Amino acid sequence: MKAWSYSEYGGVEVLKLENNVAVPEVKDDEVLIKVVAAALNPVDFKRRFGFSRPLIHLFLQGNLLESKSMIIVPGYDVAGVVVVKVGSKVKEFKEGDEVYGDIIEKAVDEPKQIGSLAEYTTAQEKLLALKPKNLDFVQAASLPLAIETAYEALEKAGFSEGKSILVLGGAGGVGSLVIQEGQSRPKSMVHRVRHLAKQVFGASKIAATSSTAKLDFVKSLGADLAIDYTKENFEDLPEKFDLVYDAVGQCDRAVKVVKEGGSVIVIAGAVTPPGFRFVVTSNGEFLKKLNPYLESGKVRPVLDPKGPFPFDKVNEAFSYLETNRATGKVVIYPI
Ligand code: NDP
Repeated sequence: MKAWSYSEYGGVEVLKLENNVAVPEVKDDEVLIKVVAAALNPVDFKRRFGFSRPLIHLFLQGNLLESKSMIIVPGYDVAGVVVVKVGSKVKEFKEGDEVYGDIIEKAVDEPKQIGSLAEYTTAQEKLLALKPKNLDFVQAASLPLAIETAYEALEKAGFSEGKSILVLGGAGGVGSLVIQEGQSRPKSMVHRVRHLAKQVFGASKIAATSSTAKLDFVKSLGADLAIDYTKENFEDLPEKFDLVYDAVGQCDRAVKVVKEGGSVIVIAGAVTPPGFRFVVTSNGEFLKKLNPYLESGKVRPVLDPKGPFPFDKVNEAFSYLETNRATGKVVIYPI
């Protein structure tokens, strides 16, 4: 099959489009998926740079992967069709099902060798869900890792209706979904009639930071207050928040704006108490839980306007993601 892969750590230049990669074997609890669309995440390029490997490897092997004959096919997020191979213990999915998911359960600790930037990939059935009916493959592929990171972390922090939240990095893949999941309840009666469906968390107030050009965008997602980080420091605001969701790496500043008893979810950068580090665990159950919100349009996929990038432009898509300026998700389609 065709697949993007690398056999040494490094920048975008180590990525190669290969024509002859073996289709991965299916384990008992896995299905084989014909990939229709895939999405990129920063963890893909952090892993490609070798950031998470032990220092001893760096010392002993330089840029080489742990085994000389090894290749890594990047890609966590997938949307595609289950094809003929279904493991013997698989109960839920059958040939022809349209599925999506983050196919790597533990993003950093147990990365998979063959990811989703390939014509075919395998995934454990517990990591998948049926694609929501109203979403196409591009939209579905954009969601899993980011939406699960948003949801699981908010749940872990005990976020609940009526609390306030500040999202650092509101325009990014994760931040744009945190804002939508947090969404405040509509205040007027007219709105109440029109938006009967329950919000996911129902915050009392959502504030979010972005650069000047993206302020209207973060408001359109549901932020009540958009803070231009190029012009003001969020810690100078007069108000404090029950929770800060830090998708940028500014926990040292974030702790100054939490209310007493509040907390900071840290998904990037260093942690300062009372902040806590959160690392996503992929789980199809979260996608199933969120399905009603996706099908009702309460939570919408956010696609970067520069995409989707075709399969032969994966390297350009990574270069773009690595500028740290993407808006929502960078998707690869068609594959
Ligand atoms: P993105 O690449 O989608 O983030 C890009 C966005 O970040 C841009 O829209 C940019 O907006 C915004 N941004 C950059 N700098 C700032 C700033 N100083 N203040 C506010 N916004 C800023 O990344 P993701 O959302 O996918 O991921 C965010 C981080 O979280 C990454 O480091 C990623 O590795 C990590 N992560 C961790 C996970 C975990 O489980 N721990 C899971 C998922 C992601 P603008 O152009 O307006 O600056």
